Amino acid sequence: MSRIASVLIPMPLPEAFDYAEPEGMGLAPGDQVAVPLGPRLIRGVVVQVRDAVGGNRPLKPVAERLDDPRLPPGTLEFVQWAARYAVDAPGQPLAIALRGARAPKPRPVRVVTATGVPPARPTAARTRVLEAAAGGPMPPADLARAAGVSSGLVKTLIDEGVLALDHVVADPAFDPPDLSRQGAELNASQAAAANALKAMIAAGGFNVALLDGVTGSGKTEVYLEAAAAVLAADPQAQVLILLPEIALTQAVIARVAGRFGAAPGEWHSDVAPPARRRVWEAVAAGSCRIVVGARSALFLPFRYLGLIVVDEEHDGSFKQEEGFIYHARDLAVARGKIEAAAVVLASATPSLETLRNAETGRYRWLRLATRHGIAQLPDIELIDLRETPPEPGRWLSPPLVAAMAETWARGEQSLLFLNRRGYAPLVLCKACGERLCAPDTDSWLVEHRYTGRLVCHLTGFSMPKPLACPHCGANDSLVSIGPGVERVEEEARALFPDARIAVFSSDTVFDAREARRMIETMAAGHIDILVATQAAAKGHNFPHLTLVGVVDADLGLRGGDLRAAERTYQLLAQATGRAGRRDRPGRALLQTYAPEHAVMQALKGQDRDAFVAAEMAERELAGLPPFGRLAAVIASGPDHDALERYVRDLAAAAPNAEGVDVFGPADPPFGLVRGRRRKRFLVRADRNIDLQAYLAAWRARVRAPSSVRVTIDVDPYSFL
Ligand code: ADP
Repeated sequence: MSRIASVLIPMPLPEAFDYAEPEGMGLAPGDQVAVPLGPRLIRGVVVQVRDAVGGNRPLKPVAERLDDPRLPPGTLEFVQWAARYAVDAPGQPLAIALRGARAPKPRPVRVVTATGVPPARPTAARTRVLEAAAGGPMPPADLARAAGVSSGLVKTLIDEGVLALDHVVADPAFDPPDLSRQGAELNASQAAAANALKAMIAAGGFNVALLDGVTGSGKTEVYLEAAAAVLAADPQAQVLILLPEIALTQAVIARVAGRFGAAPGEWHSDVAPPARRRVWEAVAAGSCRIVVGARSALFLPFRYLGLIVVDEEHDGSFKQEEGFIYHARDLAVARGKIEAAAVVLASATPSLETLRNAETGRYRWLRLATRHGIAQLPDIELIDLRETPPEPGRWLSPPLVAAMAETWARGEQSLLFLNRRGYAPLVLCKACGERLCAPDTDSWLVEHRYTGRLVCHLTGFSMPKPLACPHCGANDSLVSIGPGVERVEEEARALFPDARIAVFSSDTVFDAREARRMIETMAAGHIDILVATQAAAKGHNFPHLTLVGVVDADLGLRGGDLRAAERTYQLLAQATGRAGRRDRPGRALLQTYAPEHAVMQALKGQDRDAFVAAEMAERELAGLPPFGRLAAVIASGPDHDALERYVRDLAAAAPNAEGVDVFGPADPPFGLVRGRRRKRFLVRADRNIDLQAYLAAWRARVRAPSSVRVTIDVDPYSFL
């Protein structure tokens, strides 16, 4: 009997399409195939194969089964689950899952090897080449460098037959982790946490633990022990460690390599496509057993996933805000469930969602109360900017400057934290008052002095800084308002002209290698003052860093969305937690205009529990996460009238349901982005409501005109 294959295509289409299976193709779920779509052949993945029953309309046949690895059942189920969760087309998460499969294969490289033929003229240089070549095959240029000879000599030796030239593809295999190696000797509370994790892993199946420990308590050491236990218990088991920032992946990769004597698979947007392909295939084959990566690593085709670690689980960077919208921590728990794997969520400042699950006993709660060894948490002091303001046009107050001077005099390091890229967040014309905005977006242009450009951080638009006001034409009238990291660096240089000062932001540290270099330079003590955005303020261990100055502690509280206080607390606890390691006590100074604010008081008193209890009470009263569910519905389009009509109809069509409130449509702070007007709805629902089903039913009630794009953001983190 003939069979039908349902094929999911990595595009935003509502469902899988049916194709006829050609005789003898023997398709199975997970197979990658080429299928006709319109005039083209396109890659897709078989999700189901079933017998054709009589009366089916004739279907186009599957064109070809591709010679690429099959997606394992868990990956396939996860992709479909994620799509339902996000109320999006399953082709969207599938596209992420196939990113590595579609990347180009690594290209063969040229290498030379000694043939055993002796050189015609045995000079000292030739002997050095032969000695260097004894180390094994290597690219000709590397051999020339190793032997300290010209590349011309290597070429001569190839011509003479002393060396043979081959084309080889880099070995796709990953070295297996060496499980005979011992980890660090754990202190008592680390050992207790590690044992609890090992017991959980030994019990098998899906379980979630919160590893809750102050910065520097050794959470990484503990979860590496859990990883070792998983890898040792089952020779096929795989481990995934997720991190919120590329800079952090670099530090953890080094620690994994140190612990297991083998580099893990590395997965993030900065990994070159051929290297990505290698990781993808090795993960699918089960030969890459540890992956360290950013959020999209969650979609890799693991065969035997035994453990997922989400480090810094509270971090907002786990939320993917464009394209397929998801939160990697939430999806990690879902994937753990599908794979019957253990999940460890690690943080010094866990999200309220995770704390709630720990409080109610759904997650195991493992606490590390103190820093490892003699290291102490830093003293945190508030600087009231109303009492001791900086001089006009400056951003560092006298008490902070004095503390920096003392720190520098002792030969220790300072970190100035300001979560704002560029030189100034606003450029204003003092003649006409115009604030310079991007042409097609409601967002101020940020001045970047290194490049001399004005940049829209929302869309990436940029232009040279004009000499005259584009609005009124006045010359020399543009003034820079407020500080970014570049401006704080300028001030630090003026104050400490002899200090070694560096800036760590995504503009100065643009790739993984640069991040690693900067972190190593800082850790080695070769920087005196580091001015940094959040890219450097999380997770790193800088042994000589004893002072953290937070330039604008109130920054994250402005605008005030649901998580503003929580996020500010987490970010500042992370940033201040960089100070003081080893035997040197640390200090953190927070510049604020609101020292009485609950967040500042909690940071100063190091009283996380009281802060969390107060936040929880407020959220519970309002029925907000983690006590209720939220979703945003964002409609956008270039045609203002069509958009207005659509959102009016959508508002009228909202199903009435007990326990669901629909707010909007409202004009968001960014009402225009890339020439498209935007409108937002916010949906709040009680926890027992199937919010995804509600949203899907609502959206289906009103057909959107072709110019209008509708985006659903389940559990929004951005309200802009
Ligand atoms: P966290 O992830 O909780 O911030 P880390 O695991 O990074 O903490 O540990 C902080 C520092 O203390 C690191 O330099 C780490 O190597 C060191 N450390 C932690 N636990 C131990 C231990 N048991 N033995 C030796 N060094 C440790």
